[in-house]
This record gives sequence, structure tokens and C-alpha cells, in this order.
Amino acid sequence: MTKIHFLEERFKKTAEILEEYFNIIYPEDLDKTKQLLLSTQMDISDRILSHKENEKLVSKLKPIFRALVIERNNIAKNEGFDNYVDFIFHQDGIPQKSMRSFLKTAKKAVSKINKNLSIPPDVPDWYWSKFNIPCYLQFVEHNNNFVLPKDAYKILLHKKPRFKKLISKIEIANQEGFFPKAVFDSKNKTAIIEIDKNNTDIHNLLEFIHEVGHAVSFLELSQKGIDPKTKPRYWNEEQAIQTVLKFEKSLPIKIKNACIGEFLGDFAAAFFEYGIYNNPNQDFDRAYAKSINRVFLMCKQKENPYYVLEKEFILKPCTSFATCIAICKYYTST
Ligand SMILES: [Zn+2]
Repeated sequence: MTKIHFLEERFKKTAEILEEYFNIIYPEDLDKTKQLLLSTQMDISDRILSHKENEKLVSKLKPIFRALVIERNNIAKNEGFDNYVDFIFHQDGIPQKSMRSFLKTAKKAVSKINKNLSIPPDVPDWYWSKFNIPCYLQFVEHNNNFVLPKDAYKILLHKKPRFKKLISKIEIANQEGFFPKAVFDSKNKTAIIEIDKNNTDIHNLLEFIHEVGHAVSFLELSQKGIDPKTKPRYWNEEQAIQTVLKFEKSLPIKIKNACIGEFLGDFAAAFFEYGIYNNPNQDFDRAYAKSINRVFLMCKQKENPYYVLEKEFILKPCTSFATCIAICKYYTST
């Protein structure tokens, strides 16, 4: 299994809890288990069955997940913050104003995104139940066979021909970690994107465009003589999201709106983590269901335990705040 390394002493206990977690389920199996639970091929009876089969696993993970949340809050408190949410807002360089108005603006953005979605009237009930996570891209016709980086660049360059020079400075590498990423190579003045090139799905294409957004902004900064590493994470996320939104603009309107609908998952994540780190003494299953209901407006879930399978919550906690706030900014300025 993959070992998680933390160099700093303050993260030692977190690393121990993570090790306990990954002794029960390998990080690479989190996605697989989720896919088996939520595959589009399954009807409601298959779903209930696989839900039952995973009950034991889920109940083992729940207390460790909670311990992780509590430990992360302890780290934040030791550094003088109220909790981990406060710590991340500070660490990511999210403006004070956005921080204060987060919940209010997030609600507005979610309702705007929902207004533009087209959901067929004959969607089965289980689609909105706890046995599913809605994805609006399922409702639109799209070519689900994207070759990276070729197809992405074709659409991007059509919209932004000035990217051509920058794109020639981007190298594509195999994804080594659990998430795609873009890094700046300050020696060669190039950007490297790690992505799973064998994945031809539209979700992977969107992830790739996001990383291209980072890569392009790193290269532009470097041309201006600014070290990309000096920019806070929030600033970087904003740049990447602007590229994604520009890219999506050149897609047919229904696909574009469904792609923007993908951000709803980030909002659900942000609501959930905002809630549990601010108040860890609550029922997480209920909190997760409530967060899902707030973004997928047809959902009326009461409890949902599958936060335990979300590797973002486990390995990259609270990172969706920056994404959501950048999206909120876009929606309040348009
Ligand atoms: Zn990013």
C-alpha cells in the first residue's frame, strides 16, 4: 500500500490516524468501492444489496474519520485558530470578506447553477436517494471518449489562441499520487501536469482543463518574473477555475450547464466540512445528507455515511472552500 509521509511533527498524530484508516481500506480502493456502490448500471435492488455489503466497512471507518476531524481541529487550535476551517481559510489566503459571507454567497451560487440544469422528468426515485450521487452530465449527450491532451487543447485553443505558446511549455506526466496536479519546474521554466491519460471520461477532461489552468497561470507569472510559489492557493484556484469556465463556454449550452453542475459536488463537500469542523459533536451521516440536499435540490436524504469513502475529505480536507469561493465570485459578478 501507499505510505503517507508527513515530515512535520505537528502532523504525526494525523499520519497515525490515516495509517489506521488505510489499514482498513487502501486509498486506491476508496474510489473503486464508491464506484461499485454507485455504478450507473445498477438498479435500486443492486444498490441496496451493495449498501448492505459495505455496512461493516463503513461502520469501521466512521470513528476513525471522526478522530481525524478532531485531530485536525486540535492542530488548528494549537496554532491559534478557532478550528480547521479557520486554519484553511488563512492558509489558502481566502479574502476575509469571502470568508465572512461564505454560506450566504454559496447558497446564491448553488441556486443559480440549479436554475440552468436540465433534469429529465422521468428520473427514478432512487436517483435522489442515499443510494446515489447525482451527476447531471449523465443527462446530456456527449462524446465520452476524450483523448488527452489533444482534445482538450483543441477546444481550448479555439477559444484562446494565445495559449498556444504556453501550452508548448507544458509537459504531461503519469499521475503518481491520488489526484491530478500541476507543478512548476523553476529550473526549466516549464509546467508539468500529472494526469491519468488512459481515462477518456469527461470528468477527467474537466480535471485536466483545471490543471491546464494552473499550468498556464504558473507560466504567465514566471514570464513576468514572479515565482508562482509565492501566490496563495486561493489565487491559484481562481485562475484555474477561470480557465475551466472559459473552456466550458465553448461547449454546447446543455453540456456547459451540466459541466458547471459538477461544481455542486464541491459545494456539498464545502458545506459538509464547514459544518463538521465547526461542530464535530454532531451526527456526520445526517450532516452529509443535509449538505447533499442543499445542492442537489431534489434530494431528500436523511442520512448518508459515504463521506467515509471520499478521499478528498481524508487526504485533502477543506480544499473545496477555495474552489467554491472562486465560483461564488464568478456568479456574483455575472
Ligand atoms: Zn486546483
